[in-house]
Amino acid sequence: MSSSPIFTATIEKIIERTSDTRSFFLRAVNGRKLSFLPGQFLSFLLPVGGETLTRAYTIASLPGEEACFEICLNQVDGGPGSSYLFSRKEADLLCFTGPWGNFVLNQPTAAEYIFIADRVGVVPFRPMIARLLTTSGHHTIARLLYAAPQVGDLLYNAEWQGWEGQCAHFSFRPLVVGCEPEEYSIEKVLVPYVEQHFVKEARQHSRRFYICGIGRSVLLLRDLLRGAGYERQAVKYEKW
Ligand SMILES: Cc1cc2nc3c(=O)[nH]c(=O)nc-3n(C[C@H](O)[C@H](O)[C@H](O)COP(=O)(O)OP(=O)(O)OC[C@H]3O[C@@H](n4cnc5c(N)ncnc54)[C@H](O)[C@@H]3O)c2cc1C
Repeated sequence: MSSSPIFTATIEKIIERTSDTRSFFLRAVNGRKLSFLPGQFLSFLLPVGGETLTRAYTIASLPGEEACFEICLNQVDGGPGSSYLFSRKEADLLCFTGPWGNFVLNQPTAAEYIFIADRVGVVPFRPMIARLLTTSGHHTIARLLYAAPQVGDLLYNAEWQGWEGQCAHFSFRPLVVGCEPEEYSIEKVLVPYVEQHFVKEARQHSRRFYICGIGRSVLLLRDLLRGAGYERQAVKYEKW
């Protein structure tokens, strides 16, 4: 079996998105452009404590931004992979394989797409929604439900608002409770909203759901929607 090619990229720029979240802009050292589908991720090979850890990070770039591409991540308390990346500086090198993954939206159809994001889990929806807004007609509707503890935690907030202002078929619904991060949970914030709007009220089976977030609670959302009668294929999810 042949192994996947390993690519090396230079960290061209690092920006702070929120108090604990950064974007890394990467450029492949051989000048190779990254060809990816919206929603795919890269597998980074991180030298930590004498071993090589593998950690997945989703490509946050918009389609068309293949030469200098972005990943966006938060520092996890005690997490070796994210801590290693947060110790990197501009001009350092990173190795990765990919792109990988089937949690993608490349050719939207005339349907209502509901993107449900838990905190940094909004990242795959940036290229997906951009693709949807640039390639689909007005029969395609996109809604982004985006939950986070505080307004300051909302990534790409100005961009979602700008897209909502420009595109009549895109709506952005931030679900911010104004709580401390340790008090936040998918069960408290997203489950009641999804239950109210997509389970109890007018269920429309032309809907397509994409869910992305952290931990097992993502499965609760998936099961809630599938249990309400939405088809398995209409409820796609990615659990980090
Ligand atoms: C397909 C895929 C794509 C991913 N894309 C991204 C991305 O774009 N941005 C990103 O920040 N992370 C992403 N992740 C998560 C990332 O791969 C790592 O799991 C994360 O950075 C924690 O690694 P660590 O070594 O620091 O901590 P570990 O010690 O490996 O901690 C793992 C624990 O942290 C939880 N966790 C995973 N991700 C997060 C997070 N972001 N915040 C808080 N807790 C988390 C896991 O559920 C698990 O319980 C992705 C994961 C997958 C499977």
